[in-house]
Amino acid sequence: MPRKPSLEPTRTSSAPIEAIYDPVCGEEIARPEVAPAHTRDGVRHYFCSDRCKTRFLLDPLRYLVSGVEIV
Ligand SMILES: [Zn+2]
Repeated sequence: MPRKPSLEPTRTSSAPIEAIYDPVCGEEIARPEVAPAHTRDGVRHYFCSDRCKTRFLLDPLRYLVSGVEIV
């Protein structure tokens, strides 16, 4: 594999793109930097809307055990 050129243009995001999903509705969060978020037990959760965040806060365990993996 040839090395990448050193003059690689700056990417829009410095972090590797890893899919983040709303634990409430399962929607993919395309822009977590502007999405409503909540940190629980050291894990940051992102939501597609304030409505989903509110639902999550009302009953977090319901969504955390649903099998949606949050990375
Ligand atoms: Zn949602």
